[in-house]
Amino acid sequence: MQEMEFRSAHHLCVDTDPALCVPCQERLDRQLALLPRVYGELEVALVPAPDSGDRETGTARPGIPLNGPAVEARAAVRGTLASWADLIVEGRTVRLPLRTVPALAAFLRRHLGWLAVHPAAEDAATDIDAVLYEALRITSPEPCGAVPSGLGAH
Ligand SMILES: [Zn+2]
Repeated sequence: MQEMEFRSAHHLCVDTDPALCVPCQERLDRQLALLPRVYGELEVALVPAPDSGDRETGTARPGIPLNGPAVEARAAVRGTLASWADLIVEGRTVRLPLRTVPALAAFLRRHLGWLAVHPAAEDAATDIDAVLYEALRITSPEPCGAVPSGLGAH
């Protein structure tokens, strides 16, 4: 029972293995559509928040060093998209897209139908899911997770 739940939460492509089923293709397509925006938000996260503004209010706002994780997440997004784009370029002899995240994501979406039946389709879906999840963890941190309770109350 637990294994079933894990499988359905993680992936549904038991019947179509190794190809991706339609819901997984659609999910991957949505993730690829979302990634350029999240990548842009990571760039914003690279800029450290000004430390002078909050001092007067007296709120303790520790300068959480977002730079390291944001840099890593950006590199992971770009590297993952680029490596799967490379697979498509090799497999289909199509021209390599620009090595930018929007171009790579658009390229992968365009060739999603081909990628979805590739033996490595599940790995691609897992990789892209992982980098998106990691990026979202940085751009949209859970409000209750990081801040100790009581710190924000007055
Ligand atoms: Zn599936």
